[in-house]
Amino acid sequence: MKKPVGRQVRKLVYKLKLVVSTRLAFLFLFTLFYWVYYFIYQRANLQLSQVVFNFSAGVFTGAVAHVAVAKFIGPLLFGRCFCGWACWNASLFDFLPVRKPKRLLPEKYYMYKYVVLAAVLALPFLLIYAGFTFQGRSAQFKWLLIENAVIYGLGILLAFVLGDRRAFCKYLCPAGALMTITSPRSILKIEKNHLHCNRCRKCEEICPMDVPILNYISANQRVSDPECILCIECVKSCPKNCLTVGLGHKSDTTPEFGRSY
Ligand code: SF4
Ligand code: SF4
Ligand code: SF4
Repeated sequence: MKKPVGRQVRKLVYKLKLVVSTRLAFLFLFTLFYWVYYFIYQRANLQLSQVVFNFSAGVFTGAVAHVAVAKFIGPLLFGRCFCGWACWNASLFDFLPVRKPKRLLPEKYYMYKYVVLAAVLALPFLLIYAGFTFQGRSAQFKWLLIENAVIYGLGILLAFVLGDRRAFCKYLCPAGALMTITSPRSILKIEKNHLHCNRCRKCEEICPMDVPILNYISANQRVSDPECILCIECVKSCPKNCLTVGLGHKSDTTPEFGRSY
């Protein structure tokens, strides 16, 4: 006998909830791996500024390899999955007990992270000029601790002031800014399936990155938004099961609406 549709839908929602819990578990485990193995044991800094220090010393491993794979070339395949599933900063932000209602800032605030990106790439040149090359293990570790203390501090402050766990990611993160260059061309994207959308906007309300999901699906386009971190919260929240994660290149052109960067 065929199972009632309501029961099937409930089963599907339950399975998706498990996937999202799995996402937080992934975030936690990746963070543990990065901190214990790379940062504390290897004493390697994988942050963006270290790329400049390494380049200037003719070193192409460590930070250079990490940034190339996770934050520039990788996003062509899997978008900003790193931000949703593996970032050691996000694993703190996503667990913050923020209760205040989210305050949405105007679109122009999203541009600040490009200024921070420019500053983060320029600062090492000044430090190199002053004689700091941050190549030894202990020097890299010290710089890593300074950078992470600033990121965690700003992230926590913004999260509580704006009531938004991902405020740092949206407005200030230089790595996030770098990823927005290639991630809109990602093969992996959120898209609408054949089911009917009732425009309830639950997906947009839950989206931690304020992606205008309905604009994309109304235009029958895949979600190519540079801010999408493929966290699949929208997929899980949709009461009609209209959204899914799909592979391909269909509708991968920059949409005419939404963010213009
Ligand atoms: S935007 Fe930056 S801090 Fe946020 S998850 Fe991505 S890399 Fe991490
Ligand atoms: S659009 Fe969906 S997958 Fe992308 S950030 Fe928003 S909730 Fe996450
Ligand atoms: S949650 Fe689902 S049904 Fe509601 S607007 Fe989003 S895609 Fe449409």
